[in-house]
Amino acid sequence: MCGKCCNPVTMTDSLEKIKQRNKKRFPNGLTSEDRFIDNDTFIESFWKPLTEKEISKLDLTKDQRNMDFFKCEFFKDNKCTNWNKRPLICKYYPLYHIPYMDFLIDDCGYKNKLKEVLNEHYDIRTDLINLTNDVEGILD
Ligand code: SF4
Repeated sequence: MCGKCCNPVTMTDSLEKIKQRNKKRFPNGLTSEDRFIDNDTFIESFWKPLTEKEISKLDLTKDQRNMDFFKCEFFKDNKCTNWNKRPLICKYYPLYHIPYMDFLIDDCGYKNKLKEVLNEHYDIRTDLINLTNDVEGILD
């Protein structure tokens, strides 16, 4: 494992949106157990936004400049120290991010395999992007 997927981490929703959803579900705040329930509770609890200076060091495309980037508290020595309790967004990464797949490094084995499969089945790629957008629309 190269650890690049976790350094930095990103997602399609803004942190503000995630906090709003958590506030609706947990009006009294998150307890230590709530923090591991799902993506939203995990992200608010353990992902810390990068500083402007840290962001300026990233080589971002125009589209990526509108995204939020974070460091995860569990990322240590290029490894996840929370592997068994990592949330779905980590387990399925980068599937949630197919429209942003270019953020992955060029020699990422996962990215290259996925590209190969998606290029062979272009319709499936389009379907997956539409499905991702639909799910985001439902969650909004
Ligand atoms: S929980 Fe583990 S896999 Fe998920 S972002 Fe943190 S370090 Fe990476």
